[in-house]
Amino acid sequence: MTTTAPHPSAGAQPRLSGLESRDVSAWFGSHKVLERVSLTMAAGEVTALIGPSGCGKSTFLRILNRMHEMVRSAQLAGEVLLDGEDIYEHGRRPAEVRRRIGMVFQRPNPFPAMSIADNVASGLKLAGIKVSKDYREHLIEDSLRQAGLWNEVSSRLGTPGGSLSGGQQQRLCIARSLAVEPDILLMDEPCSALDPTSTRRVEETIAELRGRLTIVIVTHNMQQAQRVSQSCAFFLATHDTPGRIVEAGPTEQLFTDPADQRTADYVNGRF
Ligand code: ADP
Ligand code: MG
Repeated sequence: MTTTAPHPSAGAQPRLSGLESRDVSAWFGSHKVLERVSLTMAAGEVTALIGPSGCGKSTFLRILNRMHEMVRSAQLAGEVLLDGEDIYEHGRRPAEVRRRIGMVFQRPNPFPAMSIADNVASGLKLAGIKVSKDYREHLIEDSLRQAGLWNEVSSRLGTPGGSLSGGQQQRLCIARSLAVEPDILLMDEPCSALDPTSTRRVEETIAELRGRLTIVIVTHNMQQAQRVSQSCAFFLATHDTPGRIVEAGPTEQLFTDPADQRTADYVNGRF
């Protein structure tokens, strides 16, 4: 592929955005699943969300880009601030919020019959972003490079996304998220369907992206949380209390000197 158009942001300092939830509570119908979750996800950092299944991590992640609104019974209280502005503010369009705050899911979900190149560019179309052909090509290459996939696919960009391995498909989904140049990337257990080698490649990608955008990752893998994140939040729900944050802080501190016994028990695999 030849690139003629310079990337508008090439060489420029990236503009980093922070995300903050304030007293976020959530319900599905009458079932309360989150209770006053307040968390600062610092600009340019990787924040890991950990905790047992069912404690509301995925729900919280979806609230961070208004994706939970797709569930009709979902109700929300509290605020989510992107660079200090509430993403739920009246008049703000969910599609614009989702363009700035991308999401990668547990199961890689590229369009299997669509070419690798078109998969990467598909987010532009969905977001209604029109770019020149040259810039589109540049974005495809740049996004695939950032996702650590360029060298593996540059000679076959026209082949279907579904022809890639599971790990490559997940990096293709990361590239697709990056192509719309988001400020924040949310990742919901992005490696739990992957083998160890593919997991390592995705972790390398996360390490590369760190400092260029703000990442929030849900993981059940405690080693992974320690490898990729600078900050960590431990969520917990019980049979009669909704999910809430027991403890949040620097990852190193949560793992080596947690303030709460339940955090110590969880990170050491005792429940
Ligand atoms: P986690 O990701 O930590 O495993 P979830 O956010 O998926 O937790 O789920 C939190 C709680 O919300 C669970 O009790 C789950 O059953 C419930 N829940 C999640 N999604 C829905 C939904 N679409 N409708 C109703 N309840 C849901
Ligand atoms: Mg989940």
